[in-house]
Amino acid sequence: MDYKLERPRPRQNFCPTPTFKGSDTPTQICILGGGFGGLYTALYLQRFPWFKSQNCQITLVDRKDHLVFTPLLYELVTHELQPWEIAPSFKKLTYNTTIQFCQGIVRGVDLETRQVKVEKKPSAGREGFELDPLVLVYDYLVLAVGAEMRLDGIPGATTYAHPFRTITDAERLEEQLRLLETSNRPEIRVAVVGGGPSGVELACKLADRLRGRGQVRLIERGQEILKTFSPYSRAAAYRALKARRVQIDFETSVESIESDRITLFREGQMLDLPVDLVLWTVGTRSIDWVRNLPCRHNSQGQLITLPTLQLIDYPEVFALGDLAEIQDPRGRQIPATAQVAYQQADCAALNINRAIAGKRLRNFHYLHMGEMLTLGKGEAVVSSFALKLEGRLAGIIRQFVYLQRLPTVRHRLQVLRHWVWQWLTGLWQQVVRLIFDRRRRRKL
Ligand SMILES: Cc1cc2nc3c(=O)[nH]c(=O)nc-3n(C[C@H](O)[C@H](O)[C@H](O)COP(=O)(O)OP(=O)(O)OC[C@H]3O[C@@H](n4cnc5c(N)ncnc54)[C@H](O)[C@@H]3O)c2cc1C
Repeated sequence: MDYKLERPRPRQNFCPTPTFKGSDTPTQICILGGGFGGLYTALYLQRFPWFKSQNCQITLVDRKDHLVFTPLLYELVTHELQPWEIAPSFKKLTYNTTIQFCQGIVRGVDLETRQVKVEKKPSAGREGFELDPLVLVYDYLVLAVGAEMRLDGIPGATTYAHPFRTITDAERLEEQLRLLETSNRPEIRVAVVGGGPSGVELACKLADRLRGRGQVRLIERGQEILKTFSPYSRAAAYRALKARRVQIDFETSVESIESDRITLFREGQMLDLPVDLVLWTVGTRSIDWVRNLPCRHNSQGQLITLPTLQLIDYPEVFALGDLAEIQDPRGRQIPATAQVAYQQADCAALNINRAIAGKRLRNFHYLHMGEMLTLGKGEAVVSSFALKLEGRLAGIIRQFVYLQRLPTVRHRLQVLRHWVWQWLTGLWQQVVRLIFDRRRRRKL
């Protein structure tokens, strides 16, 4: 099958004035969602030297004003990293590029008329929360708004359980932890729901943050944690959880959550446990308007695409990241991860570029590069091809791999400079401490 795409008719875009100085109306490329799928597609499009000189307008829409580099979000719990390092603003990331950032909430897409309905954040100087309605018209569309957390199935979860996906979630958790740490309670009881990678990583970080005062339990419905991970990573995770005295409750489901307790169901019995904090890491679902798009979806509401990442009946629309179904060559579904979205972004950018140039599009091939998990402060497990490591060295490798994945060279260098500075300051403090200790010992 040939997925060659006919160049659609250029249209007028009603987003802020196009920055291009070309003669005709620019080709409008609209990218919805500034995460691993969307932002990286926009940035990769900049890589093509001829693309810059073309009469193209890239508009990136996101409801937030910053990226969240989720694999490093846990480091905020233990203060190993600061928010600016993992959540650079889109303004900064798109500086000196031809990408125009538009902060607003996408409310729907009309695939027939090629229009996107956005509620745009009012421009600077205007007060209030009222959003300006805006219609964007596209020639090419990239759908990459990810998925949203599902908390409404369990009584009390929406009110009392904390999700952990955004910087706001991390800030709320920090506030809650500070309140608990400064209180006079002898122990802090935390329940982390979900034995997937997020649950395991969060449980280890929380145990390290709360140290002897923390009583962390990990609640898993199945018989195993990290089901989709290799036995090596799973064994390392079990060791890390055991070393941090995290209690794992297998075959246990959550029945309800209240302000100070969680009700669990295990082996036919209800268990009512007092808790100070509940963290929720399981269950996502497609965003409403994505689920309602008149195209093919799988049973979980994810969009089904061609191997070129195009929607089946809408070749000018590309769908990637958590909102799209992805299969391996044997037809088995691959879990949605940043690694997949990041590689899809590369393919989507290439295909948009090829479509504009009237060339045949390429199929997406996922290459599994391995797996990495943070297992407490400064520690990790890395399993990639023949490399298998755990502990501090794995922690350093993981951080440097992610440093290299951060968007834009400028941001990477700023983060690297900060790390080197922190390392030098730490080293200097150790040297000073050593000198003082020696002098004190000599005096004695
Ligand atoms: C805490 C955490 C840790 C993770 N760690 C890892 C890891 O270590 N390795 C890994 O491979 N994967 C990891 N993941 C999974 C990974 O983050 C996702 O698979 C990946 O982000 C998916 O990319 P995406 O572009 O589809 O969506 P996202 O990165 O979620 O981006 C979607 C963007 O769309 C925006 N958006 C959503 N709805 C709207 C709307 N209506 N209007 C405007 N904008 C909207 C959002 O603000 C967001 O910026 C982790 C996820 C979490 C939550």
